[in-house]
Amino acid sequence: MSFTLAIVGRPNVGKSTLFNRLVGKKLALVDDQPGVTRDLREGEARLADLRFTVIDSAGLEEATDDSLQGRMRRLTERAVEMADVCLFMIDARQGVLPADEVFADILRRKNVNVILAANKGEGHAADATILEAYSLGLGEPIRLSAEHGEGMGDLLATLRPIH
Ligand code: GDP
Ligand code: MG
Repeated sequence: MSFTLAIVGRPNVGKSTLFNRLVGKKLALVDDQPGVTRDLREGEARLADLRFTVIDSAGLEEATDDSLQGRMRRLTERAVEMADVCLFMIDARQGVLPADEVFADILRRKNVNVILAANKGEGHAADATILEAYSLGLGEPIRLSAEHGEGMGDLLATLRPIH
């Protein structure tokens, strides 16, 4: 049995970096599939022996007239509908920002498994955010560095029971 993981979170936290790391060369753009728009990129992920579908929510990076909060809500809801589990990413170097609280609120109201991940977690600058992240009410945060490949073992251990 396999599953679908959606990566959500505000712009610039490192969602696409993790997506690219998980998908590697096997990136499959599926813009033409029903229900998938250019706002949501889908690929076949590989993490050690796990295989699963991963969705990168990219639509927030584009400037439109629409309010950011409205788009965050719609995009997150669409990603959640497609996913068995959401990886909600925050930026460990920036700490928990008000926009993160908005995402956390949306996710807490949904009946979805959430993995909280503090990315850019390399180095000790991230330590304070790891503690702060518990206040989001989404359980224990995983410390990741998508760019440097750190925390992938913890991500694997969290995903394995879902598989
Ligand atoms: P997205 O907007 O959430 O998709 O974020 P991106 O994946 O485009 O990354 C935004 C920026 O953060 C880029 O400059 C990345 O190189 C950088 N970045 C991503 N992951 C890490 C990380 O683990 N550590 C650090 N220091 N930078 C990262
Ligand atoms: Mg992106």
